[in-house]
Amino acid sequence: MLPIDRPSKIVCVGRNYAAHAAELGNEVPDEPLIFLKPSSSLIGPGEAIVIPSGVGRVDYEGEIGVVIGRRARKVSEAEALEYVGAIVPVNDVTARDLQKKDSQWSRAKGFDTFCPVGEPVPLSQVDLKGLEVVTRVNGEERQSAPVQQMVFSIPFLIQHISGIMTLEPGDLIATGTPEGIAPLSPGDRVEVELTGVGAVENPVVSDLEIPAIDEAGAPAAGQLEV
Ligand code: MG
Repeated sequence: MLPIDRPSKIVCVGRNYAAHAAELGNEVPDEPLIFLKPSSSLIGPGEAIVIPSGVGRVDYEGEIGVVIGRRARKVSEAEALEYVGAIVPVNDVTARDLQKKDSQWSRAKGFDTFCPVGEPVPLSQVDLKGLEVVTRVNGEERQSAPVQQMVFSIPFLIQHISGIMTLEPGDLIATGTPEGIAPLSPGDRVEVELTGVGAVENPVVSDLEIPAIDEAGAPAAGQLEV
């Protein structure tokens, strides 16, 4: 079960933490670097992240997710938070070798099950300034960063993105990952926690473990509970 309504789009932000940009040998961009992830990549807590055969390295990316509450078009930074409905933990799972190979990232970021999301918490109940992303693999902490380390703030991102495309209610913005990314392997459990909001935890499996989907409507890979 998806904890959020399936959005019309998922807008992701790349290189929004300086230390993460550096760990992959990239410069911090002078304006937000955005890309889209398909809504078909979404899964909920407990559902399996499926590593496709032959794609090489697949990484977790713990991120602060912003769910849009009302239609936003050319919104100012000062008013941006009025358009936010909720905050959710997001894992922007990435096929890192394919990301390096391709000149754009639709494939690397777009596989089914590559966007786990947790339960949304209304913005009114969230201490935005106190937010921290913590990612754990098999219980071991791998990422930990306060929201203040973002290069571009959440209001600035909403101003920037809504100046390009209308953000519809339910649309999800994944605001970028801090340093500490690393590969996942089948058998791992990966958890992205936002302090004061909650966590999304998912098992990791290989697609070799997934039974073929039959025409009668057997569960899709993303619905597999492990
Ligand atoms: Mg990311």
